[in-house]
Amino acid sequence: MYIAIGLYCLSLLCQVFASLISLSLFRHSATIYRWGWLFLAIGLSLMIGRRIGPIFHVFESGRFDLLDAILSLPISGFLLLGVLGLRKLLLKADNNQLMLETLAQHDPLTNSLSRTEILYRISEEIDRSRRNKHTFALLEMDIDHFKNVNDQYGHHVGDEVLLNLVRHSQEAIRSIDTVGRISGEEFLILLPETGADGAAQIAERLREHIANTTNETSALTPIRITISIGIAIFNPDDNPRMSRSIALNELISKADLAMYQAKNEGRNRVSFWSASTPPLKMA
Ligand code: GH3
Ligand code: MG
Ligand code: MG
Repeated sequence: MYIAIGLYCLSLLCQVFASLISLSLFRHSATIYRWGWLFLAIGLSLMIGRRIGPIFHVFESGRFDLLDAILSLPISGFLLLGVLGLRKLLLKADNNQLMLETLAQHDPLTNSLSRTEILYRISEEIDRSRRNKHTFALLEMDIDHFKNVNDQYGHHVGDEVLLNLVRHSQEAIRSIDTVGRISGEEFLILLPETGADGAAQIAERLREHIANTTNETSALTPIRITISIGIAIFNPDDNPRMSRSIALNELISKADLAMYQAKNEGRNRVSFWSASTPPLKMA
């Protein structure tokens, strides 16, 4: 009798664990599998009744079916193992998904946001800005005479300088600001809810920080670089009917023109886009 009760209790325990695991996966899984876990948890919980019933029966009448008791344990045990296996598979799929998203969103060399991701974030900021009637700023940053760094120290050192630049930039901007690499040594920096004064302050702080910070690389000597920054401000009241993608392109080309103006004015400086900014050619 005690053997039968013991077997039923063990299978009950397996069943309870399997239900709890399914339930916790339902609560924490943010994927399409969510409802599957809920139905599994409900099914397994209902089956708990089928394990409790025989235990009561043994206590009440003293009679039991030993074969049923013996079979109940592997059935519940395999169910538990199955749920654990599915859980492992799901966690792995979630990890892979996260890894893919991270890879797609980040530039592999500098760990800043990828071109696609920063453009997406700026588009989102255009929508938010129009909804909340807040201006925001976009900086375009380009390293001055970066070809010289590559020529003098080699491309791999140039790569290290790019990585350092992103790290150093993040030290000078706010935590809400985001840096994205749009091409070689050109970066966009999104400054949400920022007007012209704020953007000028941040850009100047950034320019100064980069100019005053030495780059520790695998080269024997520390390397110093300077950057030129163009600033464009997005005003939600300007052309509110303009499509988001046109507004995005227009904003980026304004920041680009302002950056080229900073180059033409002598580099290592910050320049604002204004209606009078000419479509300059590189100096
Ligand atoms: P300027 O002051 O006019 O910007 O001069 P510059 O030499 O920086 O000129 P430009 O911006 O046109 O040159 C970009 C250089 O950046 C050319 C290329 O050798 C280098 N570059 C682009 N992508 C990478 C990269 O991923 N790694 C390294 N090491 N160099 C890169
Ligand atoms: Mg450059
Ligand atoms: Mg460039």
